Amino acid sequence: MDGSKTPTTAPVLILLGPPGAGKGTQARMLEETFGLVQLSTGDLLRAAVTNGTEAGQQAKAVMDAGALVSDDIVIAILRDRLAEADCARGVILDGFPRTTVQAEALDTLLGENGQKIDAAISLDVDDAAMVDRISGRFTCAGCGEGYHDTFKAPTTKGQCDKCQGTDFKRRADDTAETVAARLDAYHAQTAPLIAFYDAQGALARVDAMGDIDDIAKTLGAIVRRATA
Ligand SMILES: [Zn+2]
Repeated sequence: MDGSKTPTTAPVLILLGPPGAGKGTQARMLEETFGLVQLSTGDLLRAAVTNGTEAGQQAKAVMDAGALVSDDIVIAILRDRLAEADCARGVILDGFPRTTVQAEALDTLLGENGQKIDAAISLDVDDAAMVDRISGRFTCAGCGEGYHDTFKAPTTKGQCDKCQGTDFKRRADDTAETVAARLDAYHAQTAPLIAFYDAQGALARVDAMGDIDDIAKTLGAIVRRATA
């Protein structure tokens, strides 16, 4: 870092959504359409540790000691990353911030660069429908073909359409109870952030239960409006 503070108008978006809401898919489509760079906390940490930056070395020391990386270190890593050339087109933050304390620290960091959160986009799901969607999934143990109790059952019950195999697998953490618990945890964690960005006028809510391409169009319109 040379400490220069070149003002930038690069858009900064936050994508919020529970597991199964299609966040990864939508982030990739935004990357392709708008040239935005998706920044996820896990990737940022790994890259900083690999590159041996000052903040990366701090993060490694903390993680080697079995502790959680502090907000200060994550912010320092994010500061370094945002200064890289590819981020000049704009970024989508995924998995950060997770708390309002982090959100305030992020606002401060962006303020140093003359930036702000242009849109915090919440991919909203219908919890009951999500439980049905995820907990009904299973795959053929032989060929890996994906099925669903309600939406895509094998033509012949108990037999794979593709390979005629009769062994099927279900993920242990895809039961109705665990999916509902994941959604509850997500809502509990995210509610303060939703309120935080709503108060800033930056919150956009998108119904994430529909067609993937329709959702992508809605997101595209939000990005265009936020960055106009
Ligand atoms: Zn099969």
